[in-house]
Amino acid sequence: MGLQRYEVVIVGAGVTGAALAYVLARYSDVQSIAVLEKEGRAAALNSAASQNSQTLHCGDLETNYTLDKAAEVRRAAGMVLRYVEVTGEGGILQRMPKMVLAVGEAEVELLRGRFEPLRTLFPDLRLLDTAGVAAVEPEVGRPGGRLRREPLMALARPPTPCAADFGALTVSLLRQAQHLHPRLDLRLNCRVQAIEPAPSAHRLRLPDGVIEARCVAVCAGAHSLAFAHALGHGRRYAILPVAGSFYHAPLKVRGKVYTVQDARLPFAAIHADPDITQPQRMRLGPTALAVPFLERRRWASVPQFLRMLRVNADVAATFAHVLGQPHLRRYALRNLLYELPLLGVRAFVREARKILPDLRVVELRYAHGHGGLRPQLLDLEARRLHFGPAKIAVADGLLFNITPSPGATSCLANAVEDAAGITAQLGRRLRQEEIERDLMGP
Ligand SMILES: Cc1cc2nc3c(=O)[nH]c(=O)nc-3n(C[C@H](O)[C@H](O)[C@H](O)COP(=O)(O)OP(=O)(O)OC[C@H]3O[C@@H](n4cnc5c(N)ncnc54)[C@H](O)[C@@H]3O)c2cc1C
Repeated sequence: MGLQRYEVVIVGAGVTGAALAYVLARYSDVQSIAVLEKEGRAAALNSAASQNSQTLHCGDLETNYTLDKAAEVRRAAGMVLRYVEVTGEGGILQRMPKMVLAVGEAEVELLRGRFEPLRTLFPDLRLLDTAGVAAVEPEVGRPGGRLRREPLMALARPPTPCAADFGALTVSLLRQAQHLHPRLDLRLNCRVQAIEPAPSAHRLRLPDGVIEARCVAVCAGAHSLAFAHALGHGRRYAILPVAGSFYHAPLKVRGKVYTVQDARLPFAAIHADPDITQPQRMRLGPTALAVPFLERRRWASVPQFLRMLRVNADVAATFAHVLGQPHLRRYALRNLLYELPLLGVRAFVREARKILPDLRVVELRYAHGHGGLRPQLLDLEARRLHFGPAKIAVADGLLFNITPSPGATSCLANAVEDAAGITAQLGRRLRQEEIERDLMGP
């Protein structure tokens, strides 16, 4: 293969890379784009429907969000809704009811406090008592035909398109992008081995040669930080990979039932919902287990993770500080327990019964092969967990997206931000007014 040149190369065909390809193809005059993916298909890792919670988060039920954060996430989710509407693409979103359930006085008070402020953003939000919960989700509010006796309340929304197949979204975004742009190459089975500086460009080493790009957007999940480190960027961060597993059970809920989140943790508490890929089943989870992998269930990624970690005094001190916090230690140990054969399901059912009090151990099956990996960032300077998504943008046309949850929901919002930086760098135009009309309209 001779030396090929592109204006933009995107590394990774998950939902982040696919959304960026779409926004550049649809709304910019960038001349040439390549999307490089090491697997044989798009959305092979965290963006596949089986690997995440299939929730288009919109800020209404996430009890750890401030009002500003809720508004930001609602706007990002709205862009996905608009994309589906404008393109008419099917098979991506499903409509179902959703609620966040408070169990016990403290949680009930928390929901009461959030209700009025949140209604300014979500006018159809309702505060449900036990009977109200039972009317929407009988097995949650009225297990065995009797109303639950403990203090119970829920913030609930009527059926909305809140269940998303982000794998289907990824495929759709790429299909649209290829259709719209005559010089967009999607190369599968194409692992980027290294990114190196070149005069006024960046050189990417591939299995079958070398290509050059003026701008490179690395959208490779946890691998993004490894590329950044190799180029001397983002050294402030390390990754704590956190695997999320699910349990399957016969379907007992009509929609998404979330539980109140511990605001000190970066992950949503467990929830129950219909598995959109297997409608007769529900999934419960995800759990959160720290693992030394860059990719779930791939042992080959362990050495990559260890190389990237480069254990030194800062890394050791940050791990010690994070695990020194009793609530994080307890959380980590509890989640470790959930993964153990035989014992795990017995421990997990106790947590799941907060949602479904009548759930039995025999009904739960560990969902093998389900659940991906959240690249949780550790801030080595502040010696703490870094909350929220992370982007490392470098002035010379390099950017690295490391996208934990709700990264899939934010894919288009993130892509618009990245596309603005890339087009500015290239001296190209991004048609913001069309983006606003199409993706941010009513
Ligand atoms: C358990 C769990 C639950 C979640 N729930 C939700 C949810 O309900 N809602 C939500 O919005 N988000 C959720 N998320 C987060 C969401 O899944 C991710 O933020 C999103 O899928 C990230 O997409 P991505 O494209 O950045 O990464 P990925 O989907 O991981 O894609 C990265 C791609 O880069 C490729 N790649 C890596 N290295 C190379 C290389 N060297 N060369 C070429 N290609 C490479 C990989 O093969 C992969 O295809 C959840 C995540 C987990 C783990």
